[in-house]
Amino acid sequence: MRPPSVDALSRSLTDIDLPAPLLVEAARIAIANNDPESARPEALRLQRSLLGPAINATGVLLHTNLGRAPLEYHQQAQATNLELDLSTGGRGSRNKHVATLICKLTGAEAALVVNNCSAAVTLVLAALARDRAVAVSRGELVEIGGGFRIPDVMSESGAHLVEVGTTNRTRVADYQAACRLHDAALLLKVHPSNYKISGFTEEVSVAALSNLGIPVVADLGSGFIDEGCHWLREGKPSWLRDEPAVKQTLEAGAALVTFSGDKLFGGPQAGVIAGRADLIEACAQHPLMRAFRPGALVLGALQQTALAYLRRDGDSIPFWRMAQTPVPQLLARADAISAGRSVTTSAMAGGGSLPGEEIPSAGIQLDGDVSTGLREAPIPVIARVRDQTTFIDLRTVHPDDDTLVANAIASII
Ligand SMILES: *Cc1c(COP(=O)(O)O)cnc(C)c1O
Repeated sequence: MRPPSVDALSRSLTDIDLPAPLLVEAARIAIANNDPESARPEALRLQRSLLGPAINATGVLLHTNLGRAPLEYHQQAQATNLELDLSTGGRGSRNKHVATLICKLTGAEAALVVNNCSAAVTLVLAALARDRAVAVSRGELVEIGGGFRIPDVMSESGAHLVEVGTTNRTRVADYQAACRLHDAALLLKVHPSNYKISGFTEEVSVAALSNLGIPVVADLGSGFIDEGCHWLREGKPSWLRDEPAVKQTLEAGAALVTFSGDKLFGGPQAGVIAGRADLIEACAQHPLMRAFRPGALVLGALQQTALAYLRRDGDSIPFWRMAQTPVPQLLARADAISAGRSVTTSAMAGGGSLPGEEIPSAGIQLDGDVSTGLREAPIPVIARVRDQTTFIDLRTVHPDDDTLVANAIASII
């Protein structure tokens, strides 16, 4: 029997929601492999390789592979006042709208938004410390996931890294000695987001550093905005105990802080620089700002998140809604999905923040490693496997997706 033509084979796939050229591609591959039957799985494989929804059942609230903080944001197909000053009719700044809200939230004089926190740190160093020294504790020469390494960022930005102290102990005198030897433009304090140094340790607080007369930049990463947690009904959760907050770090004397939009802030991928107006202005004027500037989609989503904080409405920020759900509620959902398989679990913040801090949670336990089967569900369910047991943690699953989770479980057992 003659094999079907590429054309005929691709037309047999039109029930799959893909543009014709991609169905033709799948048909061509199948025929080249002498296996026309494989055209359908090939097209489905292509479809699943596109960016699409997934159900985060890992219990890691900010899972970098799953897009960190979940967020819903709608934008009309309409012009905006992105760079128009509506009072004068002249050129405005895309940086003014949301920056005003960030200042209100954090008490900062000024703020600037870029595409991510790595860009924020790079811009600060390039604009304020090019060809000059920046002192960093040896305990804070971190690598954050995705290849963000402080020594590399430093050299790319044209600043000279001056290492201070030792891996486990750094004192004020170490910074003072470094500043006497080098003409330091900045003291950089990097939050060791994804690891802990414990035991015989000592570090210098932002407050102590800010007395040395050189601007202190605190790269906080996480974007925990205010220890007051006024947007949470129950106040500050205990797992945030040791996390430095943006507002309090500025109050302690940091000249600038940098943080991500999509970690504990719960917004879109973005980087925020907040603090002294003159330093922010220097960052805004730097040529790199043109390359790092975010688009209206990001600024709109960040503004929506900032407004929710100001309304003290943590429930409308998906990250905080999932972080706050009481364990009994999660257990009841687990029972409804699969009575008899409910368990309490430990969730965590993730996204390179709060290492070792456990967030009480609940979910469903399945024998064996069934993660592959769960990933094959129409909306892939991403679970966690430990000791040949699969855990579906419901803290990170939206309640609307419980039925999909139940269906995925039913399909594998
Ligand atoms: C996460 C993190 C970064 C990088 O942030 P991105 O937004 O992913 O670029 C930088 N510094 C610290 C301390 C972080 O925790």
